[in-house]
Amino acid sequence: RNMGRKFLVGGNWKCNGTTEEVKKIVTTLNEAEVPPEDVVEVVVSPPFVFLTLVKSLLRSDFHIAAQNCWVRKGGAFTGEVRLNIVNQTYIAVEFWSKLREFHIVMALLVMTLILAEMLVNLGIPYVILGHSERRLLLRESNDFVGDKVAYALSQGLKVIACVDRISDWTNVVVAYEPVWAIGTGKVATPTQAQEVHSVLRKWLHANVSAEVAASTRIIYGGSVNGANCRELAAQPDVDGFLVGGASLKGCHKTTKVFQA
Ligand code: PGA
Repeated sequence: RNMGRKFLVGGNWKCNGTTEEVKKIVTTLNEAEVPPEDVVEVVVSPPFVFLTLVKSLLRSDFHIAAQNCWVRKGGAFTGEVRLNIVNQTYIAVEFWSKLREFHIVMALLVMTLILAEMLVNLGIPYVILGHSERRLLLRESNDFVGDKVAYALSQGLKVIACVDRISDWTNVVVAYEPVWAIGTGKVATPTQAQEVHSVLRKWLHANVSAEVAASTRIIYGGSVNGANCRELAAQPDVDGFLVGGASLKGCHKTTKVFQA
């Protein structure tokens, strides 16, 4: 593939599944015929509670991503409360930056902490950050996501992200996910996807460097399935997919996405 960018197919399971269902999907994936690891990188992203199970069962040439992680290190923060307060707190942080530390402490008290350090410790190499569902439903702001990306990278995680506050791009995959296409069955046309991916790459070229623009993978997400992936994959700036719904459905669909 152009510029040595390895094609990446990510399965984003979102908040779905039981132990039995997860085992079934993993069995399917383990049996799937996919191109070798140096051609296509496969990353599956189960809900947090299933990470260890999936890690123990999944074939070793596939990788695992968590769906979120916290912005700082942990500590004495027991339990979980209302996520939306966290994000209102972060909105407040943007307005009252002087009170930043105070608000961060507030945020820590009301948040389930999924620590970057714990993901590393579990042997989970990737984390998805800034997914639009979190931005929309949980009001994660650019600043908040940017801080999380920076922290996750500093702990050695690879990040599937869509933000503009990154200084070291080596371990970053950018996901373009038009909100209107997520979970709607309305996929972007190959031309639409290519247009945006090429704008993103130009942005990287102008704002970061030619090298980063050439080497960073920009993947598409939003109603990707076995029927539409091939044409999308043929676009020069589409370097892979983040697949939601189809990654949870039948094996043949998933396998088709891998093979495209
Ligand atoms: P979808 O989700 O494939 O179900 O549209 C994609 C995503 O949210 O990453």
